[in-house]
Amino acid sequence: MAQEVVFDLCVVGAGPGGYVAALRAAEHGMTVAIIDARQTPGGVCLNEGCIPSKALLDSSEFYQLVRDKAAHHGVLVDGVGLDLKGMMTRKQDVVQRLTDGISFLFKKQKVVSITATVTEITKTEAGFDLLTTDPLYPKIAATKVLLATGSRPVELPVAPFDGERIVSSTQALSLNQVPSHLVVIGGGYIGLELGSVWKRLGSAVTVIEALPRIIANSDTSMSATIQRSLKKQGMVIKTSTRLESVDLQADRIVLRTVFNDVCEEIQCDCLLVAVGRKPNTEGLGLSVLGVNVNAQGRIDVDNDFMTSVEGLYAIGDIVPGPMLAHKASEEALVCIERMVGNAVLDVRYDLIPGVVYTWPEGASVGLTEEQLKASGRSYRKGSSSVIANGRAKAMDEHEGQVVLLADDATGELLGMHIVAPRASEMIAEGVAALRFKATVHDIGFLFHAHPSLSEVIKEAALTMIADR
Ligand code: FAD
Repeated sequence: MAQEVVFDLCVVGAGPGGYVAALRAAEHGMTVAIIDARQTPGGVCLNEGCIPSKALLDSSEFYQLVRDKAAHHGVLVDGVGLDLKGMMTRKQDVVQRLTDGISFLFKKQKVVSITATVTEITKTEAGFDLLTTDPLYPKIAATKVLLATGSRPVELPVAPFDGERIVSSTQALSLNQVPSHLVVIGGGYIGLELGSVWKRLGSAVTVIEALPRIIANSDTSMSATIQRSLKKQGMVIKTSTRLESVDLQADRIVLRTVFNDVCEEIQCDCLLVAVGRKPNTEGLGLSVLGVNVNAQGRIDVDNDFMTSVEGLYAIGDIVPGPMLAHKASEEALVCIERMVGNAVLDVRYDLIPGVVYTWPEGASVGLTEEQLKASGRSYRKGSSSVIANGRAKAMDEHEGQVVLLADDATGELLGMHIVAPRASEMIAEGVAALRFKATVHDIGFLFHAHPSLSEVIKEAALTMIADR
């Protein structure tokens, strides 16, 4: 009888947590299997998250620039039109090139990639057995298991997804026509990004947010500037407003919302529910195994990402922390390095940058002013506007600012909050500055290429240096 193969590591879920972990483990010489229920690797991030959303954001921005701004630049374009099908094809092509790249790397590193759902994990003498839905590999044996099963959109009981008129973020990435009026429930980054896509393509867009401000966890400077900017672009944003009921009529959707005890009726033809994501921890037999799952449904892990069960690890959206791809990948790297006995620093959860890819973009790292106020720590604040920046003027961009927060006594940077075109690229300076404990003096007297948007960071730092 053929001897059963026991992999050193079996990874469940091939998103930015799982695939990064599998490749790193293989680089360290481990025998690795990775199992994912979907046909293509890359998880939510590549298939229905970060990448397709950015592909559509870039395409819709391009369309809007040509339609609304080209003439101002002296570029005359006749007959600008929208080929939505072509736009979706390009998006899918971007996704496919990236997922093909991961499949190629799996082959190159001899990672065994299996398309199947894992339905149960049990403890054995050798480690673990994973039962799968693949008839070729119904049972996989491994010494160690890494769970990276990610998350899925939260559904509202009053607005269950039907995939056509009431849609999740996944479905909103593939609508086959531009809605006349799209209502987005949830003013977080996913709702605002997808709302921006459809606004640029011609929809009227209304965002309903239950909290008093959009992107509620961000610095107030950032959420206020982005809200102002989106409103200027024609997006209607209703904060402190709750969705009460949804009436699906033959020709329209009728929503009832409540603001300050006052009801309002809103009619639309498409409803996007983007109120958060739920970790995928069910259906794996975790409670029988004895894995501790917290009240939010997320798996408790130690500093090595080991769960309460010896040899069983977890990373990404299923463990505490922000649900972001770069957080999942960083956890993957640290987890595998520790697994093979390499000493590496802990994941720096205080240095995870957060970005909202609206236009202008918002990007943030470190503490917010609200957090500093609540902590009672003495801090200094400096800011500089995009409007005065030469590169921004050349780009015809006027909105945004950089806000820096620093320790009052030492000037050490504590937080950077940027609203600017391509703030997603600028925030890397903030991450590096915080990581290496830079002061506002260091940043203010650091070369920044001229003309560049990053000069706004330098200017903000200089406003904080009394003896300049
Ligand atoms: P996932 O990427 O969720 O992958 C988990 C995988 O596990 C899935 O492929 C799933 O099929 C598989 N799986 C689950 N259960 C099983 C099972 N039982 N058996 C087999 N396979 C299973 N993050 C950013 O950092 N930047 C962004 O710009 C960004 N934009 C986003 C835009 C949208 C619209 C959305 C929805 C998300 C976005 N995110 C973004 C979040 C990001 O996609 C997630 O944080 C990230 O994908 C989490 O990675 P993960 O590896 O934990 O899991």
